[in-house]
Amino acid sequence: MEKLPFERPFIKKVSTGLPAKFGSKKRIEVIPDIEGIPVSHLMADYGSPLFVLSESTIRKTIREARSAFSTRYPKVQFAWSYKTNYLDAVCRIFHQEGSWAEVVSAFEYEKAILNGVPGTRIIFNGPEKSPSILEKAIMNNSLIHIDHFDELYALMELSRKLERKPRVAIRINLDAGIYPQWDRFGFNFENGEAWEAINRILLSGLFDLAGLHTHIGTYITTPSAYRTATAKLASLMVEIQHKYNHTIGYIDVGGGFASKNTLRGSYLQGYDAAPSFDEYADAITSALINSQIKPEHLPLLILETGRALVDDAGSLLTTVSANKRLSNGHRAVIIDAGVNLLFTAFWYDHNVAPTTMNTDNTEETTIYGPLCMNIDVIRPAVILPPVKKGDHLVIQRVGAYNMTQWLQFISMRPSVVLIDINNKPHIIRKAETVETIRQQEQIPEHLQ
Ligand SMILES: *Cc1c(COP(=O)(O)O)cnc(C)c1O
Repeated sequence: MEKLPFERPFIKKVSTGLPAKFGSKKRIEVIPDIEGIPVSHLMADYGSPLFVLSESTIRKTIREARSAFSTRYPKVQFAWSYKTNYLDAVCRIFHQEGSWAEVVSAFEYEKAILNGVPGTRIIFNGPEKSPSILEKAIMNNSLIHIDHFDELYALMELSRKLERKPRVAIRINLDAGIYPQWDRFGFNFENGEAWEAINRILLSGLFDLAGLHTHIGTYITTPSAYRTATAKLASLMVEIQHKYNHTIGYIDVGGGFASKNTLRGSYLQGYDAAPSFDEYADAITSALINSQIKPEHLPLLILETGRALVDDAGSLLTTVSANKRLSNGHRAVIIDAGVNLLFTAFWYDHNVAPTTMNTDNTEETTIYGPLCMNIDVIRPAVILPPVKKGDHLVIQRVGAYNMTQWLQFISMRPSVVLIDINNKPHIIRKAETVETIRQQEQIPEHLQ
């Protein structure tokens, strides 16, 4: 007879947290491997904590998104949002899949150039662009998305100085039913500011006004907001045609599609709440084809989708450092990855999964990171089986924003591994060492 593993008996207070619409979550998902590689092997080889990205998930997701749009509209172009994850290996996967680059700073612009993206396929967004990087972008014929009038005047000066016609679009903020409205970026649609910018641009004769852009927000779960936004840009395009006989080449509706993560405190699981790419594509493309834009003028549709394309592809592998009972008897677990690595823990209830489970006992648990900071909470409450010091936990859907917003705070940033389509792991960013950090520092002579 097979001997069953011994489990120490214990008494626990029943506290299961609030039920969701469908009752309490009973089944605990166990994740023993990532793309067929055991979590324990990955951590033995590359250390703990460890970010792991799946190349096949990235490729599958961008293909799914592209096909949702290109089956509904003839001219579609994705541009990878660098700030969402600008590790070069990740950017290169998107570029191989045909995505242009969407950047919001000089640093990201330089990265895109170094990744071999032709200047004409770089979209340059953002509220702060220095004269020197604007000059470079003009000389490379990049698409410069103007954010405010001061930038417009700076570009006019550069255009005259360089004797070039910069290819520009304006960023437009508008009421799409999403509140608070993101009106700190770009020119407002409803109060006529966008028209003022368009008139100044076209009357100056200094620019090639190539497109109209908006980015209405992030984690937008209502596709109809995109329908409204796209319809507004389309109407503007028609009026520009009418007034100036000038054809706008593209309409860029930005990013903002929701990923399948669950927002903190949200009633529905993200998996059920997030609209599909098909739903977003329906809303956006129907606004375009049902507009007054003449068939021969149908613009290129650009999408700058970030989080929805890469969130699912990333996991954070962590090790349990300790178990604790809080003063009220509530169970707590300390792991070796904190909010310095997982910025999105402030927004999301990330799914946290054990790598093995040989019990049916579960208990509501708080997961703390290793920082000596009260705010270092990965999950305020999650149902987990008992875990021991040294056990591994997998935090899912961490591919977006964490590997760019992570902080070198109290501890250093760990390695990032990409598992390729043949299930072979590659380090794509080495763990920082004390030396990495010290290299940047200098000690004045009197302190030597
Ligand atoms: C951040 C950003 C994106 C990507 O947004 P997601 O919400 O990650 O899809 C796209 N465009 C602009 C201008 C951005 O600032």
